[in-house]
Amino acid sequence: MSASNRRVLLKSRPQGEPTPANFDLVEAPIPEPKEGEYLSRTIWLSLDPYMRGRMSEARGYASNVELGDPMVGGTVGQVVKSRNPGFKEGDFVVEQSGWQSYAVSTGAGVTKLDPNAAPLSAALSVLGMPGMTAWWGLMQIGKPKAGETVVVSAASGAVGSVVGQLARLHGCRAVGIAGGKAKCDYVVKELGFDACVDYRAAGKDLFRELRAAAPKGIDVYFENVGGAVQAAVLPQLNDFARVPLCGLVSQYNEMQMSPGPDWRLLLVRRVTVQGFIVSDHFGEMEGFRKEVPPAVKAGRIKYREDIVQGLENAPEAFIGLLKGRNFGKLLVQVSDDPTRK
Ligand code: NDP
Repeated sequence: MSASNRRVLLKSRPQGEPTPANFDLVEAPIPEPKEGEYLSRTIWLSLDPYMRGRMSEARGYASNVELGDPMVGGTVGQVVKSRNPGFKEGDFVVEQSGWQSYAVSTGAGVTKLDPNAAPLSAALSVLGMPGMTAWWGLMQIGKPKAGETVVVSAASGAVGSVVGQLARLHGCRAVGIAGGKAKCDYVVKELGFDACVDYRAAGKDLFRELRAAAPKGIDVYFENVGGAVQAAVLPQLNDFARVPLCGLVSQYNEMQMSPGPDWRLLLVRRVTVQGFIVSDHFGEMEGFRKEVPPAVKAGRIKYREDIVQGLENAPEAFIGLLKGRNFGKLLVQVSDDPTRK
Protein backbone atom coordinates (compact mmCIF):
# COMPACT_ATOMS: atom_id res chain seq x y z
CA MET A 1 0.00 0.00 0.00
CA SER A 2 1.47 3.38 -0.97
CA ALA A 3 1.92 5.97 1.78
CA SER A 4 -0.67 8.54 0.69
CA ASN A 5 -3.94 9.01 -1.13
CA ARG A 6 -3.48 10.75 -4.49
CA ARG A 7 -6.54 12.75 -5.44
CA VAL A 8 -7.50 14.92 -8.40
CA LEU A 9 -9.67 17.80 -7.21
CA LEU A 10 -11.76 20.26 -9.18
CA LYS A 11 -9.82 23.50 -8.76
CA SER A 12 -11.85 25.82 -11.00
CA ARG A 13 -14.77 25.54 -13.39
CA PRO A 14 -13.83 25.47 -17.08
CA GLN A 15 -14.92 28.18 -19.48
CA GLY A 16 -15.35 26.15 -22.67
CA GLU A 17 -12.73 23.42 -23.00
CA PRO A 18 -11.31 22.16 -19.69
CA THR A 19 -7.58 22.76 -19.20
CA PRO A 20 -5.06 21.16 -16.81
CA ALA A 21 -5.37 24.32 -14.65
CA ASN A 22 -8.94 23.29 -13.75
CA PHE A 23 -7.56 20.30 -11.83
CA ASP A 24 -5.39 19.97 -8.74
CA LEU A 25 -3.37 16.83 -8.00
CA VAL A 26 -2.89 16.51 -4.23
CA GLU A 27 -1.56 13.95 -1.76
CA ALA A 28 -3.70 13.33 1.32
CA PRO A 29 -3.53 10.82 4.18
CA ILE A 30 -5.11 7.46 3.41
CA PRO A 31 -8.49 7.47 5.18
CA GLU A 32 -9.26 4.99 7.98
CA PRO A 33 -12.49 3.02 7.65
CA LYS A 34 -14.94 3.53 10.54
CA GLU A 35 -17.20 0.80 11.91
CA GLY A 36 -19.41 -0.36 8.99
CA GLU A 37 -17.00 0.90 6.32
CA TYR A 38 -14.21 -0.55 4.22
CA LEU A 39 -11.17 0.98 2.53
CA SER A 40 -10.46 0.19 -1.11
CA ARG A 41 -7.50 0.77 -3.39
CA THR A 42 -8.58 2.08 -6.80
CA ILE A 43 -7.37 -0.07 -9.68
CA TRP A 44 -9.38 1.27 -12.63
CA LEU A 45 -10.99 4.69 -13.07
CA SER A 46 -13.50 5.26 -15.85
CA LEU A 47 -13.33 8.59 -17.69
CA ASP A 48 -16.66 9.54 -19.27
CA PRO A 49 -18.07 12.52 -21.18
CA TYR A 50 -20.72 13.21 -18.49
CA MET A 51 -17.92 14.42 -16.19
CA ARG A 52 -17.74 17.66 -18.19
CA GLY A 53 -21.26 18.50 -16.99
CA ARG A 54 -20.31 17.83 -13.37
CA MET A 55 -17.47 20.38 -13.65
CA SER A 56 -19.80 23.22 -14.57
CA GLU A 57 -22.19 25.29 -12.50
CA ALA A 58 -25.18 24.77 -14.79
CA ARG A 59 -27.93 22.54 -13.43
CA GLY A 60 -27.68 18.97 -14.72
CA TYR A 61 -29.43 15.69 -13.89
CA ALA A 62 -27.04 15.03 -11.00
CA SER A 63 -25.29 17.29 -8.53
CA ASN A 64 -22.14 19.06 -9.68
CA VAL A 65 -18.70 18.61 -8.17
CA GLU A 66 -17.97 21.31 -5.60
CA LEU A 67 -14.73 23.26 -5.99
CA GLY A 68 -12.01 21.54 -3.94
CA ASP A 69 -13.76 18.15 -4.04
CA PRO A 70 -12.40 15.12 -5.92
CA MET A 71 -13.77 14.60 -9.40
CA VAL A 72 -16.51 11.96 -9.49
CA GLY A 73 -16.18 8.74 -11.42
CA GLY A 74 -16.90 5.03 -11.59
CA THR A 75 -14.07 2.79 -10.37
CA VAL A 76 -13.02 -0.78 -9.83
CA GLY A 77 -11.11 -1.29 -6.61
CA GLN A 78 -9.88 -3.92 -4.21
CA VAL A 79 -10.75 -3.94 -0.52
CA VAL A 80 -7.58 -3.49 1.56
CA LYS A 81 -9.12 -3.06 5.05
CA SER A 82 -12.63 -3.77 6.23
CA ARG A 83 -14.82 -3.03 9.21
CA ASN A 84 -17.92 -4.04 7.28
CA PRO A 85 -18.91 -7.73 7.53
CA GLY A 86 -20.20 -7.69 3.94
CA PHE A 87 -16.75 -6.96 2.49
CA LYS A 88 -13.46 -8.72 3.17
CA GLU A 89 -9.88 -7.88 2.32
CA GLY A 90 -9.13 -8.90 -1.27
CA ASP A 91 -12.72 -8.46 -2.57
CA PHE A 92 -13.00 -6.68 -5.93
CA VAL A 93 -15.71 -4.02 -6.09
CA VAL A 94 -17.33 -1.68 -8.61
CA GLU A 95 -17.91 1.62 -6.87
CA GLN A 96 -17.98 5.40 -7.35
CA SER A 97 -14.74 6.35 -5.65
CA GLY A 98 -13.91 9.17 -8.07
CA TRP A 99 -10.46 10.36 -9.11
CA GLN A 100 -8.46 9.12 -6.13
CA SER A 101 -6.28 6.17 -5.31
CA TYR A 102 -8.04 5.17 -2.05
CA ALA A 103 -11.57 5.61 -0.75
CA VAL A 104 -13.75 4.49 2.16
CA SER A 105 -17.27 3.27 1.56
CA THR A 106 -20.22 1.86 3.49
CA GLY A 107 -20.86 -0.50 0.58
CA ALA A 108 -24.09 1.24 -0.45
CA GLY A 109 -24.59 0.95 -4.20
CA VAL A 110 -21.44 -1.18 -4.51
CA THR A 111 -21.30 -4.40 -6.56
CA LYS A 112 -18.80 -7.18 -5.94
CA LEU A 113 -16.92 -8.53 -8.95
CA ASP A 114 -15.95 -12.11 -9.71
CA PRO A 115 -12.40 -11.76 -11.13
CA ASN A 116 -12.79 -15.08 -12.97
CA ALA A 117 -15.91 -14.03 -14.90
CA ALA A 118 -14.36 -11.26 -17.03
CA PRO A 119 -11.46 -8.80 -16.92
CA LEU A 120 -12.07 -6.38 -14.03
CA SER A 121 -11.96 -3.32 -16.30
CA ALA A 122 -14.86 -4.62 -18.42
CA ALA A 123 -17.13 -3.70 -15.49
CA LEU A 124 -16.56 -0.07 -16.46
CA SER A 125 -17.11 -0.56 -20.19
CA VAL A 126 -19.03 -3.19 -22.12
CA LEU A 127 -20.34 -5.02 -19.02
CA GLY A 128 -21.01 -1.84 -17.06
CA MET A 129 -22.55 1.60 -17.46
CA PRO A 130 -21.63 2.23 -21.14
CA GLY A 131 -22.79 -1.25 -22.20
CA MET A 132 -26.07 -0.80 -20.30
CA THR A 133 -26.52 2.60 -21.91
CA ALA A 134 -26.12 1.08 -25.38
CA TRP A 135 -28.48 -1.79 -24.64
CA TRP A 136 -31.19 0.24 -22.92
CA GLY A 137 -31.23 3.08 -25.42
CA LEU A 138 -31.20 0.83 -28.46
CA MET A 139 -33.62 -1.86 -27.29
CA GLN A 140 -36.08 0.20 -25.22
CA ILE A 141 -36.20 3.39 -27.31
CA GLY A 142 -34.70 2.42 -30.68
CA LYS A 143 -36.72 -0.83 -30.85
CA PRO A 144 -34.80 -2.08 -33.89
CA LYS A 145 -36.53 -4.47 -36.29
CA ALA A 146 -34.67 -6.85 -38.61
CA GLY A 147 -33.99 -5.22 -41.98
CA GLU A 148 -33.98 -1.68 -40.59
CA THR A 149 -31.03 0.72 -40.74
CA VAL A 150 -29.48 1.81 -37.43
CA VAL A 151 -27.01 4.71 -37.46
CA VAL A 152 -24.88 5.51 -34.43
CA SER A 153 -22.45 8.38 -33.88
CA ALA A 154 -19.21 8.14 -31.82
CA ALA A 155 -19.35 4.62 -33.24
CA SER A 156 -15.94 3.39 -32.11
CA GLY A 157 -16.51 4.50 -28.51
CA ALA A 158 -17.68 2.73 -25.40
CA VAL A 159 -21.40 3.16 -26.08
CA GLY A 160 -21.47 3.41 -29.88
CA SER A 161 -19.45 0.25 -30.49
CA VAL A 162 -21.97 -1.83 -28.52
CA VAL A 163 -24.97 -0.17 -30.20
CA GLY A 164 -23.80 -1.11 -33.69
CA GLN A 165 -22.90 -4.69 -32.76
CA LEU A 166 -26.27 -5.19 -31.04
CA ALA A 167 -28.02 -3.76 -34.11
CA ARG A 168 -26.24 -6.34 -36.28
CA LEU A 169 -27.16 -9.16 -33.88
CA HIS A 170 -30.80 -8.06 -34.29
CA GLY A 171 -30.62 -8.28 -38.09
CA CYS A 172 -30.25 -4.56 -38.86
CA ARG A 173 -27.91 -2.69 -41.16
CA ALA A 174 -25.47 -0.98 -38.80
CA VAL A 175 -23.87 2.26 -39.95
CA GLY A 176 -21.35 4.08 -37.79
CA ILE A 177 -20.18 7.66 -37.85
CA ALA A 178 -16.71 8.23 -36.38
CA GLY A 179 -13.77 10.60 -36.56
CA GLY A 180 -10.86 9.31 -38.66
CA LYS A 181 -9.98 6.38 -40.90
CA ALA A 182 -8.52 4.20 -38.16
CA LYS A 183 -11.74 4.37 -36.13
CA CYS A 184 -13.90 3.69 -39.20
CA ASP A 185 -11.74 0.75 -40.29
CA TYR A 186 -12.00 -0.71 -36.78
CA VAL A 187 -15.77 -0.31 -36.71
CA VAL A 188 -16.25 -2.12 -40.03
CA LYS A 189 -13.42 -4.66 -40.05
CA GLU A 190 -13.22 -5.58 -36.37
CA LEU A 191 -16.74 -4.94 -35.12
CA GLY A 192 -18.60 -5.98 -38.29
CA PHE A 193 -20.65 -2.82 -38.92
CA ASP A 194 -21.93 -2.67 -42.50
CA ALA A 195 -20.45 0.78 -43.11
CA CYS A 196 -18.87 3.72 -41.34
CA VAL A 197 -18.67 7.36 -42.38
CA ASP A 198 -15.64 9.41 -41.33
CA TYR A 199 -17.26 12.74 -40.50
CA ARG A 200 -13.92 14.52 -40.21
CA ALA A 201 -12.84 13.56 -43.75
CA ALA A 202 -16.35 13.94 -45.20
CA GLY A 203 -16.71 17.57 -44.11
CA LYS A 204 -19.40 19.17 -46.24
CA ASP A 205 -20.05 15.85 -48.02
CA LEU A 206 -21.25 14.18 -44.82
CA PHE A 207 -24.89 14.25 -45.89
CA ARG A 208 -24.08 12.60 -49.24
CA GLU A 209 -21.72 10.00 -47.76
CA LEU A 210 -24.27 9.08 -45.16
CA ARG A 211 -26.92 8.68 -47.83
CA ALA A 212 -24.60 6.28 -49.70
CA ALA A 213 -24.03 4.27 -46.49
CA ALA A 214 -27.75 4.22 -45.59
CA PRO A 215 -29.46 4.19 -49.00
CA LYS A 216 -32.86 3.15 -47.57
CA GLY A 217 -32.87 5.99 -45.05
CA ILE A 218 -32.43 5.77 -41.30
CA ASP A 219 -34.90 4.00 -39.00
CA VAL A 220 -32.97 4.40 -35.73
CA TYR A 221 -30.44 7.13 -35.01
CA PHE A 222 -28.61 6.58 -31.72
CA GLU A 223 -27.52 10.13 -30.95
CA ASN A 224 -24.21 10.53 -29.12
CA VAL A 225 -22.75 13.75 -30.51
CA GLY A 226 -25.21 16.39 -31.82
CA GLY A 227 -23.93 19.36 -33.86
CA ALA A 228 -22.97 18.98 -37.52
CA VAL A 229 -23.33 15.19 -37.43
CA GLN A 230 -26.89 15.48 -36.16
CA ALA A 231 -27.70 18.06 -38.82
CA ALA A 232 -26.63 15.60 -41.55
CA VAL A 233 -28.59 12.70 -40.04
CA LEU A 234 -31.99 14.22 -39.21
CA PRO A 235 -33.15 14.92 -42.80
CA GLN A 236 -32.43 11.26 -43.64
CA LEU A 237 -34.72 9.81 -40.95
CA ASN A 238 -37.51 7.62 -42.29
CA ASP A 239 -41.15 7.95 -41.27
CA PHE A 240 -41.66 6.70 -37.70
CA ALA A 241 -37.92 6.68 -37.01
CA ARG A 242 -36.75 6.48 -33.40
CA VAL A 243 -33.95 8.59 -31.91
CA PRO A 244 -32.54 7.47 -28.54
CA LEU A 245 -31.08 10.80 -27.40
CA CYS A 246 -28.11 9.53 -25.43
CA GLY A 247 -25.54 12.32 -25.53
CA LEU A 248 -24.38 15.48 -27.31
CA VAL A 249 -20.65 15.32 -26.72
CA SER A 250 -19.76 17.78 -29.49
CA GLN A 251 -21.57 20.48 -27.48
CA TYR A 252 -20.32 19.85 -23.95
CA ASN A 253 -17.53 22.44 -24.22
CA GLU A 254 -19.65 25.06 -25.98
CA MET A 255 -20.29 28.35 -24.25
CA GLN A 256 -23.34 29.16 -26.39
CA MET A 257 -25.86 26.76 -27.85
CA SER A 258 -25.64 26.40 -31.63
CA PRO A 259 -28.84 26.76 -33.68
CA GLY A 260 -31.18 23.84 -32.97
CA PRO A 261 -32.39 20.97 -35.17
CA ASP A 262 -35.21 21.34 -37.64
CA TRP A 263 -38.14 20.22 -35.46
CA ARG A 264 -40.62 20.58 -38.33
CA LEU A 265 -38.91 17.68 -39.99
CA LEU A 266 -39.29 15.53 -36.87
CA LEU A 267 -42.97 16.38 -36.88
CA VAL A 268 -43.79 15.54 -40.48
CA ARG A 269 -41.87 12.25 -40.29
CA ARG A 270 -43.53 11.36 -36.93
CA VAL A 271 -40.15 10.69 -35.34
CA THR A 272 -39.91 9.60 -31.70
CA VAL A 273 -37.07 11.32 -29.85
CA GLN A 274 -36.52 10.27 -26.27
CA GLY A 275 -33.79 11.44 -23.99
CA PHE A 276 -32.67 9.01 -21.29
CA ILE A 277 -30.22 8.72 -18.42
CA VAL A 278 -29.05 5.17 -17.89
CA SER A 279 -28.90 5.45 -14.08
CA ASP A 280 -32.72 5.82 -14.03
CA HIS A 281 -32.88 2.30 -15.48
CA PHE A 282 -30.22 0.35 -13.58
CA GLY A 283 -33.06 -1.70 -12.06
CA GLU A 284 -34.31 -2.74 -15.52
CA MET A 285 -31.25 -4.54 -16.82
CA GLU A 286 -32.51 -8.15 -16.85
CA GLY A 287 -32.49 -8.09 -20.66
CA PHE A 288 -29.00 -6.63 -20.69
CA ARG A 289 -27.71 -9.40 -18.42
CA LYS A 290 -29.34 -12.06 -20.61
CA GLU A 291 -27.99 -10.67 -23.85
CA VAL A 292 -24.73 -8.75 -23.49
CA PRO A 293 -22.39 -10.72 -21.14
CA PRO A 294 -22.95 -14.02 -23.03
CA ALA A 295 -22.39 -12.24 -26.36
CA VAL A 296 -19.15 -10.72 -25.04
CA LYS A 297 -18.00 -14.10 -23.73
CA ALA A 298 -18.73 -15.75 -27.09
CA GLY A 299 -16.94 -12.97 -28.99
CA ARG A 300 -20.11 -11.78 -30.75
CA ILE A 301 -19.66 -8.40 -29.09
CA LYS A 302 -16.11 -7.07 -29.02
CA TYR A 303 -14.78 -4.09 -27.13
CA ARG A 304 -11.69 -1.98 -27.07
CA GLU A 305 -10.02 -0.19 -24.17
CA ASP A 306 -7.86 2.91 -24.33
CA ILE A 307 -5.75 2.72 -21.17
CA VAL A 308 -3.85 5.63 -19.66
CA GLN A 309 -1.36 4.86 -16.88
CA GLY A 310 -1.39 6.88 -13.66
CA LEU A 311 -3.96 9.11 -11.96
CA GLU A 312 -1.79 12.17 -12.67
CA ASN A 313 -2.56 11.70 -16.38
CA ALA A 314 -6.36 11.66 -15.90
CA PRO A 315 -6.92 15.39 -16.59
CA GLU A 316 -5.13 15.36 -19.99
CA ALA A 317 -6.86 12.13 -20.96
CA PHE A 318 -10.25 13.55 -20.04
CA ILE A 319 -9.59 16.77 -22.00
CA GLY A 320 -8.73 14.55 -25.01
CA LEU A 321 -11.94 12.53 -24.62
CA LEU A 322 -13.98 15.63 -25.38
CA LYS A 323 -12.04 16.06 -28.64
CA GLY A 324 -12.10 12.47 -29.85
CA ARG A 325 -8.50 11.62 -28.92
CA ASN A 326 -9.53 8.38 -27.23
CA PHE A 327 -9.97 5.23 -29.29
CA GLY A 328 -12.21 2.89 -27.30
CA LYS A 329 -13.36 3.00 -23.68
CA LEU A 330 -11.11 5.44 -21.85
CA LEU A 331 -9.77 4.08 -18.55
CA VAL A 332 -7.09 5.16 -16.15
CA GLN A 333 -5.04 2.45 -14.50
CA VAL A 334 -4.55 3.92 -11.03
CA SER A 335 -2.75 0.93 -9.49
CA ASP A 336 -1.74 -2.65 -10.22
CA ASP A 337 -4.47 -5.07 -11.38
CA PRO A 338 -3.49 -8.36 -9.76
CA THR A 339 -5.71 -10.34 -12.14
CA ARG A 340 -4.02 -8.99 -15.27
CA LYS A 341 -0.67 -10.31 -16.47
P1 NDP B 1 -16.67 7.57 -26.25
O1 NDP B 1 -15.85 6.41 -25.80
O2 NDP B 1 -17.48 7.43 -27.49
O3 NDP B 1 -15.74 8.86 -26.36
C1 NDP B 1 -16.26 10.09 -26.77
C2 NDP B 1 -16.23 10.18 -28.31
O4 NDP B 1 -17.05 11.24 -28.71
C3 NDP B 1 -14.86 10.54 -28.85
O5 NDP B 1 -13.98 9.45 -28.97
C4 NDP B 1 -15.21 11.14 -30.20
O6 NDP B 1 -15.30 10.13 -31.18
C5 NDP B 1 -16.61 11.72 -29.96
N1 NDP B 1 -16.50 13.16 -29.95
C6 NDP B 1 -15.82 13.92 -29.07
N2 NDP B 1 -15.91 15.20 -29.42
C7 NDP B 1 -16.64 15.26 -30.54
C8 NDP B 1 -17.08 16.30 -31.38
N3 NDP B 1 -16.75 17.57 -31.11
N4 NDP B 1 -17.85 16.00 -32.46
C9 NDP B 1 -18.19 14.71 -32.70
N5 NDP B 1 -17.79 13.68 -31.94
C10 NDP B 1 -17.03 13.96 -30.88
O7 NDP B 1 -17.66 8.01 -25.07
P2 NDP B 1 -18.92 7.19 -24.53
O8 NDP B 1 -19.20 6.05 -25.42
O9 NDP B 1 -18.70 6.97 -23.09
O10 NDP B 1 -20.11 8.27 -24.66
C11 NDP B 1 -20.75 8.49 -25.91
C12 NDP B 1 -21.94 9.42 -25.67
O11 NDP B 1 -22.87 8.78 -24.81
C13 NDP B 1 -21.58 10.74 -24.99
O12 NDP B 1 -22.36 11.77 -25.56
C14 NDP B 1 -22.00 10.53 -23.55
O13 NDP B 1 -22.29 11.73 -22.88
C15 NDP B 1 -23.24 9.66 -23.76
N6 NDP B 1 -23.63 8.86 -22.59
C16 NDP B 1 -24.91 9.01 -22.13
C17 NDP B 1 -25.39 8.23 -21.11
C18 NDP B 1 -26.82 8.37 -20.68
O14 NDP B 1 -27.22 7.79 -19.67
N7 NDP B 1 -27.63 9.09 -21.45
C19 NDP B 1 -24.51 7.28 -20.40
C20 NDP B 1 -23.19 7.14 -21.01
C21 NDP B 1 -22.77 7.92 -22.06
P3 NDP B 1 -14.96 10.49 -32.72
O15 NDP B 1 -13.48 10.65 -32.80
O16 NDP B 1 -15.49 9.34 -33.45
O17 NDP B 1 -15.64 11.77 -33.00
